[in-house]
Amino acid sequence: MLFSASTALPDVIPDNQTIPQFLLDTQHSLCPRRNDYPCLIEESTGRSVTFTELRERTFALANGLHQRFAFGDNDVALICSPNHVDYPATIWAIHRLGGIFTCSGASPNSTREELVHQLKKSEASLIFVHSDFIDPVLAAADTVQFPYDRIITLDASTPTGFVSLADLAAEGSSGCSMPFVDRILSKGEARSKVAVLCFSSGTTGPPKAVSITHYALIANVIQMAVHNVREASASTGRGYNPGDTSLLILPLNHVAGLICNLHFPLFSGMTLVVVQKYSLLSMMESIVRYAVSHLLLVPPQVVALTKDPAVRKYDLRSVRHVLCGAAPLSPEMSSLLLDLFPEAQVGQIYGLTETATTISMLPARQARGPLGSVGQLLPGVRAKVVKDDGSLAAAGEPGELYVSSPSLALGYHNDDAATRDVFINEWVKTGDQVLISPEGELYILDRIKEIIKVKAFQVAPAELEGCLLEHPDVLDCAVVGTSDAYSGEVPFAFVVLTPDARQRVKEDASEFGSKVRSSIMAHVADRKSRYKQIRYVEFLDAIPKTPSGKILRRKLRSRLHRCFLLP
Ligand code: AMP
Repeated sequence: MLFSASTALPDVIPDNQTIPQFLLDTQHSLCPRRNDYPCLIEESTGRSVTFTELRERTFALANGLHQRFAFGDNDVALICSPNHVDYPATIWAIHRLGGIFTCSGASPNSTREELVHQLKKSEASLIFVHSDFIDPVLAAADTVQFPYDRIITLDASTPTGFVSLADLAAEGSSGCSMPFVDRILSKGEARSKVAVLCFSSGTTGPPKAVSITHYALIANVIQMAVHNVREASASTGRGYNPGDTSLLILPLNHVAGLICNLHFPLFSGMTLVVVQKYSLLSMMESIVRYAVSHLLLVPPQVVALTKDPAVRKYDLRSVRHVLCGAAPLSPEMSSLLLDLFPEAQVGQIYGLTETATTISMLPARQARGPLGSVGQLLPGVRAKVVKDDGSLAAAGEPGELYVSSPSLALGYHNDDAATRDVFINEWVKTGDQVLISPEGELYILDRIKEIIKVKAFQVAPAELEGCLLEHPDVLDCAVVGTSDAYSGEVPFAFVVLTPDARQRVKEDASEFGSKVRSSIMAHVADRKSRYKQIRYVEFLDAIPKTPSGKILRRKLRSRLHRCFLLP
């Protein structure tokens, strides 16, 4: 059967606006815009930015970008930064010029090798970098001969010789000789006009750039608003409302951070406390200091929050709404979270980069979601659950989830083959094994796809396997995820050694075996971001494969379960 939300999506998604025009310039019946309230607060300093100031900043930066760099329609800019109070204005200045911003889809703490891949694939012609990440960015720029005079530093600690964002904004607001013209879209153009190239592994393979349009971004905000604001009852104060405050803690270079933690709460008239560096205790202090009402978390943060006794010292009564998403949350953690916030609305949210982003979430009409549920389908989402034999599942039956929504991405940038595998006739094949209950609750049972989720960040086995194969002692390999109490999953490598290395291990079993293991792990550590590090290596005689050469990962996972007595 086909599943859809109980609430219909009104026909109000504009298809002729860019995301900043929609968020910053337009009045909406779903949530009236307020100009004079502090919409962003810098967590560390308490400095606030009003809605009007934020909007003006986008104009100043757009002017500066246009004048100094002639940056314009369909040009691509890479942003490599942790969350920062100027990050939103930077993105929207790019969009006002008709430009595209590219983000890593995960940690901004990328390595030189990862950044080279992203620069080449996205063909970025401008880089915004936070000073924390200047070293790998410069190393990548050197590799692809990216000109240093097109690198802009985002924060105040500017190394000399680079243009800073502050310089650019000052230039743009000081009576620019060539003021920019806001990119106006024709009717329907937002449906194909790309706003973001977000790097994701998709259901499998190495990172690919997902092309996300302005229309998809706007649609998802409206879908969430109808699911929440419309249904929120004034008496319960549920959902998302003007006057509420959220921590902007999910990274803005992942669509979940961008859409669920920035676009949607800002559209709802909320204040966002911008968290640059996450730590459990600073999060506790900020909840108290800023009377935070809404939290959007990933599973490792829930683990820390529910398990660390230090949390009990803080008064968390301001928190009225907690959602967890991006990766599986165990039922045990879910119930600890419910205990920690007995009065709050608590539930889960689910989506993919390819569906930009949210497919289901706790609706405002529910005080708390049933244990294990990732919420109910958003208005405008259609879902089908396909069983192993290809037939459609009924309510309560498991199978692979396919979804259709106005928020779907266009596909993978310059990769038709990968696009055809995942974007099939207006449906996205999610690679998630699910069931939808008769009450409309969505439950994620397993991931059919190969990606490993480490602290909610995607790790593509194929990427690590490629890296492992460059090690001189590795003949063949396969990487799978193994469960980890803190990170959710961590990468585990099965390695077949070259005959020479195998002989050496045989001759000097304990010593050489552990030396090779450490050298293989160090090889990956030197080349990949921290969350991608291989945590375990096991030697095998051969990697189990299908006759067509596909790695039998399920076999490897069950071997892990047997050998290491995992749950
Ligand atoms: P990404 O494209 O990085 O957002 O990853 C999408 C994948 O994350 C989904 O296909 C799921 O496998 C997983 N995911 C997202 N949200 C949840 C959730 N609430 N529970 C379980 N898995 C989730």
